[in-house]
Amino acid sequence: MSDCIFCKIVAGEIPADIVYENEQVLVFKDVNPRAKIHLLMIPKQHIVSLAELDESHAALMGQMMTLMPTLAQGQGLEAGFRTIVNTGKGGGQEVFHLHIHLLGGGELPAFG
Ligand code: 5GP
Ligand code: ZN
Repeated sequence: MSDCIFCKIVAGEIPADIVYENEQVLVFKDVNPRAKIHLLMIPKQHIVSLAELDESHAALMGQMMTLMPTLAQGQGLEAGFRTIVNTGKGGGQEVFHLHIHLLGGGELPAFG
C-alpha cells in the first residue's frame, strides 16, 4: 500500500523509533504518546483493520498477542498495561493499517 504511513515505516521510507522487530511484526513508539509508554505493534503485511481478519491471520495475530508480555516487561510495565485496537471509523481508527496500542506507566484513565 504505497499511501499507507505504517507501510512506509515498515519500508524504512519514513523514520520511526523502533523498539522491536522480527520477520512479521514491527513495534515502534507512537509519535503522539497518550501515556508514559505508548507503543504501536503492527504486522509488516498491510492489513486494514481487525475487521479484515480471517482464519489465515490466526498465527500472525497469535504471535502478536503472545509478544505483548515480553514487550511490556522490556518497557518496565510489570504493574500492568493496556492494549487497544481501534477498528474502523466507528471505532476511532485513524491509521488504516492494523495496529495494537500498548499503553502503560503511571496512571491510566479509567476505561469502561
Ligand atoms: P488509531 O487512532 O488509528 O488507533 O491510532 C493511530 C496512532 O498512530 C495514533 O496514536 C497516532 O499518534 C499514531 N501515528 C500516526 N502517524 C504516525 C507516524 O507517522 N509515526 C508514528 N510513530 N505514529 C503515528
Ligand atoms: Zn499499511
